[in-house]
Amino acid sequence: MKYDEDKVDDCTLALLYLVAHGREEGYGARAWKGFDWDTLNRLHNKGYLSNPVGKTKSVAMTEQGFLQAKSLFEKHFMNKTDTIAFPNFTAPAKKRWNQIPEGTRKDILDNVWCPHCRTGISMRLREGVIEERCLVLRGTCNLCKGEVARVIEPPE
Ligand SMILES: [Zn+2]
Repeated sequence: MKYDEDKVDDCTLALLYLVAHGREEGYGARAWKGFDWDTLNRLHNKGYLSNPVGKTKSVAMTEQGFLQAKSLFEKHFMNKTDTIAFPNFTAPAKKRWNQIPEGTRKDILDNVWCPHCRTGISMRLREGVIEERCLVLRGTCNLCKGEVARVIEPPE
């Protein structure tokens, strides 16, 4: 049988999130390993799982594996409305934000510098305020969940 192994890996990793337990912040988690053996081995080779060989019924997920599983689970199996919390805007901030065309707003949120990841990421918007005439957007990095902000200069 020929199939897209990477897709199966992604979905299996996403489902491992559902059977994850013993989560330790920064140290990954454990997950029940009743999944396809070859897939688990590939996930091990990708650095998401410890070596799945062994008599225990669960496998250790690395920190990277747990975070990736969580993000894939949200991507594949959660409703968008459940994952994106309604952002809090002050009235003047909301007015300014709504003046920006929708496509541009999306571009802004998809290109935020994350000081933790040291790269451009997409931001999960939490709040918007006006500070010194600038629109300040605050939220979390979709990659590392760290705090990020984006300042938009006032229009001329
Ligand atoms: Zn980040």
